[in-house]
Amino acid sequence: MTAVQRPAERQMIIGGRDSEAADGARFVRESPGDGEIVASYPQAAAADVDRAVSAARDAFDSGPWPHMSGADRGVVLHRVGQLIRRDATLLAELEALESGKPIAQALGEVEGTADLWEYAATVARHTYGDAHNALGANVLGIVVNEPVGVVAMITPWNFPVLIISQKLPFALAVGCTAVVKPSDLTCGTTIHLGALLREAGLPDGAVNVITGDGSVGAALCRHPGVDMISFTGSTAVGRVIARDAGEDLKRVELELGGKNPQIICADADLDRAADAVVYGSLFNQGECCNAGSRLLVEEGVSHAVLERIAEQMDRVVVGDPLDPATQVGAIASEAQLRKIEALVEDGRAAGASTLVGGSRLQTEQGCFFQPTVFSSVEPDMKIAREEIFGPVLSVLTFKSLDEAIRLANSTLYGLSAGIWTQDLDKALRAAKDIRAGTIWVNSWLDGFPELPFGGFGASGVGRELGRQAVAAFTETKTIQIHSGWRSPWSTVGRWDG
Ligand code: NAD
Repeated sequence: MTAVQRPAERQMIIGGRDSEAADGARFVRESPGDGEIVASYPQAAAADVDRAVSAARDAFDSGPWPHMSGADRGVVLHRVGQLIRRDATLLAELEALESGKPIAQALGEVEGTADLWEYAATVARHTYGDAHNALGANVLGIVVNEPVGVVAMITPWNFPVLIISQKLPFALAVGCTAVVKPSDLTCGTTIHLGALLREAGLPDGAVNVITGDGSVGAALCRHPGVDMISFTGSTAVGRVIARDAGEDLKRVELELGGKNPQIICADADLDRAADAVVYGSLFNQGECCNAGSRLLVEEGVSHAVLERIAEQMDRVVVGDPLDPATQVGAIASEAQLRKIEALVEDGRAAGASTLVGGSRLQTEQGCFFQPTVFSSVEPDMKIAREEIFGPVLSVLTFKSLDEAIRLANSTLYGLSAGIWTQDLDKALRAAKDIRAGTIWVNSWLDGFPELPFGGFGASGVGRELGRQAVAAFTETKTIQIHSGWRSPWSTVGRWDG
């Protein structure tokens, strides 16, 4: 017996109320694990985008949220964290059913999500600026961080409830309001989160959730009532959004794809490194922006490392997302499965060797792909350069740390990278010279709300989490206070803008 009743009919949330699409249109989501319908959702149209933006606009321009104290906003955000913990089983099941991920990983994702809301509650109390008191007699300069306004938030299907929670609680913490559009493959947990926000006491309209495909996201991004776009998804769509945002000069923050290298040096603890490489490439079926999908291994130990990896990959349990023993679940959609197959085929045709797996799993129902390892991969092959977003590891070898760093920096991306070594000099060198937003030394994939997250190059623009989260969702305002009379001509010869 599962906590999720299916099939369900779910509504959007606009202005604090459950809401159908204006024209009554709906679409269904089937689970990629068993092909059964999980739920149906409204397919929003332009009129619904208008309603949602104007609810968020009203909540920002004349509602209480932006004017409440950080402490009061923090109370609501903390309550949301607690409610997420209360509903953890339901949220995790919904996430596993719609995304295809294993329930054990979905539970971890939900716990991490609650942690983000609880951390953001502390950020709400620490949104402050700066003061300058050495600007001359009778002058005080005050720098404040004000909420940027209405934020459009658009999210992908791989970690739906976690990714919206890397944005939403931080934007709310500083006083913004929002319209959220999750991927049409995974709306369930975001809508449930919207209900928890109401239960926690968030004012109506401060967060609105609309559902539908990419056309809804595009209409939302182009809406003149939106001040900022915070997007997580593919680099291709990120480029379109950045172009459109440039037209209107909207603020934009983009979290995009990755082709993340993990370097194993000959002096590394090979057992630990191999274990982490298998986990880092298969976690969430490899449908992870931070997937360690490119292994760079030092030539002298490549045989020993590949032996360990192949042995572990063979033992990985692939199957029903709701089974607690499952380690690799279902691929999120047939379209994604076909994309993986095409890239794997390309790797084979280009001359890489399939060490493990290499094809779709023949099951009666659902979308599954075998954990796959390619060896003899060359840097110019697509499987070494493009994000596959599936359980596929491409292995390249190197002779020197210089070569490893050159290979690490040889794609357009720069989201994350890792190095396995016991030599501090090598670790520091790699940490400094690899161009990526996160560098892991002797670990992979762990993260903390306190630490900023984001990418270099084609992996994105801006940072989420940490102290940077305040910067992401605020505008900086300078206030100059002059006391007493001073002739305006007295500024001649000084900088005056
Ligand atoms: P996607 O870009 O296809 O879709 C993401 C979201 O954008 C969806 O909600 C979609 O409906 C919407 N969308 C599509 N076209 C749009 C448009 N023209 N304007 C506005 N919105 C539009 O990505 P996806 O397939 O859902 O997710 C996978 C991608 O997300 C991968 O590339 C992955 O690396 C990336 N990702 C990045 C991070 C990160 O933090 N850097 C995290 C997770 C996923």
